[in-house]
Amino acid sequence: MRQASKPAGPAGVVPVLMYHDVSSRRGVGPLQPYVVHPAEFDEHLAAMADAGYRTAAATSLARIASPSESTVYLTFDDAYQSFHTTVLPALAVYGMRATVFAPSAFIGESAQWMRDSPDGDRRLMGWSELQEVVAAGSEVGSHGHRHLPLDLVSAATVRKEVYQSRQVLSDGLGRDVTSFAYPHGHNTAAVRRAARQAGYEVACAIFGDLQPLGGDLFAVRRVPVGPGLTGVELLALLRRRRSAVDLGLRALARPGWRAVRRVGARTRGMREA
Ligand SMILES: [Zn+2]
Repeated sequence: MRQASKPAGPAGVVPVLMYHDVSSRRGVGPLQPYVVHPAEFDEHLAAMADAGYRTAAATSLARIASPSESTVYLTFDDAYQSFHTTVLPALAVYGMRATVFAPSAFIGESAQWMRDSPDGDRRLMGWSELQEVVAAGSEVGSHGHRHLPLDLVSAATVRKEVYQSRQVLSDGLGRDVTSFAYPHGHNTAAVRRAARQAGYEVACAIFGDLQPLGGDLFAVRRVPVGPGLTGVELLALLRRRRSAVDLGLRALARPGWRAVRRVGARTRGMREA
């Protein structure tokens, strides 16, 4: 009979998961592969809790010398309102926390970087909701100011995006914002350097793999989570018994719409990226 004990995590990796919207409204545009149903999300949390996993905020990756194998880092990009209405109450049930990355120009507005898509009317949290996130023990990090693809814009714009978003969020929340997530995960050595110089301690990218212990804290590897992933599959991923490739998650790190974004960015003034 199986004893409830410390989860049998693989040595040498830190699991960092990337969610976006948790909603019963499916994505139909760029978000289609990333909207997780609330029931699926609850299944994920229940599976991790049953297996003895704990959670921590992204910044703690930089502050703990050797993260525990039984700690999972839950991250959420874009700061959709569903984080406040759905994710936060679910986390509270299991005593878990997460980091949510907000684009500081669009606090309380819609996902304007997708305004040419049906997904673009999704609402983002406002200041009072972000304050409640912090009060509940979760972390608010920066997702840039205007959600621009930082590998395609000028060095001056990169600096403005990383500094301004940190300033706006830190002022609005009354606390230092120390974590960052590159919009769509795009980064270069120069972008990573700018994030470090702006004062962040951790910056998250997207990969189909788990973060190696001691890996680059300015290119944190996150596994994207999409619809259809069961709790059992999630545990298999965390224990490295099934890979992100097996589970079709690596493909989410490089969806087709990203491949064509360079052309799109040029022809549409980078609004969609
Ligand atoms: Zn984003």
